[in-house]
Amino acid sequence: MLITVSQHAPVSTRTAILLAAAEAGLRAQTMHDGLGGEVIAVAGSLSIEPLGLAGIERVESVHKPYMLASLEARSRSTVTVGDVVIGGATPVTIAGPCSIEPGDGLIEIARSVKAAGATMLRGGAFKPRSSPYSFQGLGEDGLRALAAARDETGLPVVTEVMEPEQVDLVAGYADMLQIGSRNMANFPLLKRLGTVSTPVLLKRGFSATLEEFLMSAEYIMASGNPNVVLCERGIRGFDAAFRFNLDLNVVPAIREVSHLPVMVDPSHGTGRRSLVRRMSMAGLASGADGLVIEVHPDPDAALSDGYQTITPAELAHIQRFGSAVHAALAGVDGDLVDAERDDSMERDVIRIAVLEDDVMALSA
Ligand code: PEP
Ligand code: MN
Repeated sequence: MLITVSQHAPVSTRTAILLAAAEAGLRAQTMHDGLGGEVIAVAGSLSIEPLGLAGIERVESVHKPYMLASLEARSRSTVTVGDVVIGGATPVTIAGPCSIEPGDGLIEIARSVKAAGATMLRGGAFKPRSSPYSFQGLGEDGLRALAAARDETGLPVVTEVMEPEQVDLVAGYADMLQIGSRNMANFPLLKRLGTVSTPVLLKRGFSATLEEFLMSAEYIMASGNPNVVLCERGIRGFDAAFRFNLDLNVVPAIREVSHLPVMVDPSHGTGRRSLVRRMSMAGLASGADGLVIEVHPDPDAALSDGYQTITPAELAHIQRFGSAVHAALAGVDGDLVDAERDDSMERDVIRIAVLEDDVMALSA
């Protein structure tokens, strides 16, 4: 169940609920409701009326299984990474190489993606590669390079963490922790992320349903870290022409049921450099809060995922048109459009009824 406690409630109300949950042997987790109050998710049903608590705003016993991630729990959330706000009015671009490579090329890439308009830097230090013989990443040396690039450019950095034991190490360098597609259902890892407050970029498993995706977010949130950003990165389809199919249905569908920000990765989502430009536009049009794009100065020489990697110049092009797409579509979800549509439907219904009355009157 979800219990919303008003910002004016005495502290004792919250304490009493948590105590009652503990006494009933039920897990409970609190989270800000975005309006100054707090929402408490209790894994089970608790009879709180007899407690006569002050400041209870709402109690929902019927809700989605992903309680904390659901739009029933709170208003739309934003996640702040350094000085970048994900889920706000401005779309965010996270750009950088698939893998951080040996040498000092990352600083160069960081400067160029920043100049192209990116707001955050990405780069893998621990890489989940399909083959054990492929480049596995630079490990902690890569993390050091990433932190140095952040320090020089001011761009907050995101990098993947693959094991629960690595969480503290990676969080010591990175501003945001990426959970890769292959680890979306690594529950020990998700639970471990609840023990830090570092924001998490949770990529969708490439065969995960919308509900499984949101339940993975729930794992992190229920463990105590509410700072989750979802990322659609393509699902497996039947067509060998594409490495993955970017599933843009999921973006507006998530927005209907969850308050969490959603980003789109058109690099992994297509597996093809030439498709990234258009699918970036489509991602923004679908309502994404931003893009995650693989960028390298010489994509063909990149140590991983070069075939889906674009140049900084291409990124600048995407940024320019992406801003226009975003601006053109601002307000597309607004109430006015719905109200007008509902209104006109209502008018049609009334018109038909009036016509039927007229026909009746005429034939009488
Ligand atoms: C990546 O971002 O480089 C990556 C490995 O992504 P995914 O987990 O979506 O395949
Ligand atoms: Mn990659």
